[in-house]
Amino acid sequence: MKKLLALALLAASSLSAQAALKVATLHPLIADVVRTVGGDKVEVVEVLKAGADVHHFEPGARDIAAMRGAGIIFASGKNLESYLGKLRDSVGPSVKVVEVGRPIPSLKMEPGQDVFVCCPHHAHSAIDPHWWHSAENMRRAARVIADELAEADPANEKAYEAGAKAAGNRFMELKKWAQQQIATIPRGDRKLVTAHAAFGYFCKEFGFKSIPVLGIGRSDDVSSQYIAQAIQLIRDNKIRAVFPEDQANPKVLAEIVRSTGAKTGKPLVADGTATYAHTFETMLAHNVRAIVEALGVKK
Ligand SMILES: [Zn+2]
Ligand SMILES: [Zn+2]
Repeated sequence: MKKLLALALLAASSLSAQAALKVATLHPLIADVVRTVGGDKVEVVEVLKAGADVHHFEPGARDIAAMRGAGIIFASGKNLESYLGKLRDSVGPSVKVVEVGRPIPSLKMEPGQDVFVCCPHHAHSAIDPHWWHSAENMRRAARVIADELAEADPANEKAYEAGAKAAGNRFMELKKWAQQQIATIPRGDRKLVTAHAAFGYFCKEFGFKSIPVLGIGRSDDVSSQYIAQAIQLIRDNKIRAVFPEDQANPKVLAEIVRSTGAKTGKPLVADGTATYAHTFETMLAHNVRAIVEALGVKK
């Protein structure tokens, strides 16, 4: 009897393992949404994991091999992964490459602000690729992912639909929470000063003015004229706090802040790849807390 039961369990588990749809992801935030939407119906191969740099990543031979067995590869899109053309050729037509951010309205850099983009790599497109800082965008992403999963695995369409709905509801709860937190910041102080322009979608959704001061300078190789301009910008806008980023905290930013009388906030998570914040929920919570801590007024 025991043996029979064990056999039955074995059969059941291998069945469900076979049934899982294998997908690969190129962004930890997307992997999290795929897991929420797909549940146990999908097996997620995280090619780009937390701790990696989305702006400079290129898949290696081992990554390509891992992606070949997948039904779908989910990328961020908006030109973040400039290697997608090459990747499509490498994995062949049996693997569908989906740019999750594609249907999300793009934020163009304001004229004159294109020098502030995240990295030289993305300077030419003048589109901010960091769409994941908006709860509304994340809800759209969940829907895109559910549609793609359902197309690849129609038998589980209902489950994916329910998963997208649950994910979307959660994102809306988080948006509400963030709005309540941000309400403690005086309207005139809702200006987000960062090194590079990675928070445009956040600023748009939560009513901040985005003021990037260093741009492509993830390095400290900035001219003194540029530094003087940044200092003037901070003074003119009566900025109370400046925020470094988890992967862009050049010494020069600290120097600039020191000579303005503003304070330095906690580093914000720009790409959703921090080891301590690589889901939308943990990233948003971290960023909102850091911003409110520096700019909020206690009642
Ligand atoms: Zn970039
Ligand atoms: Zn970035």
